[in-house]
Amino acid sequence: MLTHVKNLTREELRIAFAAMGEKPFRANQIFEWMYRRGARNFAEMTSLAKCLREKTDAFIPLSPESGVISGKFGASEAPCEIPDETAPLMTLRIKKRLISARDGTRKYLCETADGNLIESVCMKYRFGSSVCVSSQAGCRMGCAFCASGLNGLARDLTPGEMSDQLLLAREDTSEDIRHVVVMGTGEPLDNYENVLKFLENITDPVGLGLGRRQLTVSTCGPVTGMERFLRDMPQANLAISLHAPNDAIRTRIMPIAKTDSVEDIISFARRYTRESGRKITFEYVLIDELNDDPDCADELSNRLRDINCLVNIIPLNHVPETGLVPSSDETVRAFRDRLESNGVGTTVRRKLGADIDAACGQLRRSGAD
Ligand code: SAH
Repeated sequence: MLTHVKNLTREELRIAFAAMGEKPFRANQIFEWMYRRGARNFAEMTSLAKCLREKTDAFIPLSPESGVISGKFGASEAPCEIPDETAPLMTLRIKKRLISARDGTRKYLCETADGNLIESVCMKYRFGSSVCVSSQAGCRMGCAFCASGLNGLARDLTPGEMSDQLLLAREDTSEDIRHVVVMGTGEPLDNYENVLKFLENITDPVGLGLGRRQLTVSTCGPVTGMERFLRDMPQANLAISLHAPNDAIRTRIMPIAKTDSVEDIISFARRYTRESGRKITFEYVLIDELNDDPDCADELSNRLRDINCLVNIIPLNHVPETGLVPSSDETVRAFRDRLESNGVGTTVRRKLGADIDAACGQLRRSGAD
């Protein structure tokens, strides 16, 4: 079996080069060319000997001989093909790009080698841009309000496909990427190994060199996955999609609520903030007459009162197929004020790119028309 070089960590690339009888530092050079300089093929890597440029392949065998046998690389079934023959190091192709006239937010619909469509978003902030990355093509979590899960999971994305979402956004905007949020389509903790490898690669100082504190992973809250993530990457930020103050409401909109209770999630969060010394974010989508009344705000406040956290209130993006209705602006304000007066810190998510179909998974569903 073969895997794309962007699915390997730098250490794995060094091992593979050593197994091919090459100097391991060549792996560092290639890593730097791919991530720091965005090289799309080996011919661009002018600091590499010509014969090495010519003979190195974008695909490395996964075998004891190549020394690269670790990991799942996720989609082990992912195709060993590339969308563009002249750019073998690029695993994605931009199929559609939308630019918000209001705030410059860019939304990309990209195609993988096997024809899956995935979305990513690049938001411009004063301090640099933030890229929202998809971790899966589709999703199997089945949240009632979300467009991404309507057709289930197609497949996990590979580490390379996640990194390329960033690299394409950087190339397209010529802006430095300051923050990465794994908050696009998919449940990152359901594609754990690949997401972790992706985060390791983009924080490698030889490549993009992002700080771990500049990363945020958003999850619907499987507690064992969150515990593992806390152990593996304690410096990264975690955002938990809670969306309800209790299990009765949560089970109506999130199937995961049947296995992971609000109480377990909150006690994990309490431990997380103690161990990491940092704040945790709870996301809370406001849905009309479902989770948006003052009692919900009070119950949520009571549960979160002693936790170092922030509640990010998200006005629901309307997905017609779900039959759910966004709360009114007035209700959003009242909910926020109630949490604040109960002593819970809040933010209300800005509707960046609202004019370009920015709701999760909506562009992907609309295809490339
Ligand atoms: N699976 C992860 C990450 C992807 S979803 C998670 O659940 O966190 C990213 C965020 O967008 C989540 O908080 C999710 O609940 C929210 N979201 C999904 N559909 C939405 C919609 N229609 N309107 C507003 N937010 C939505």
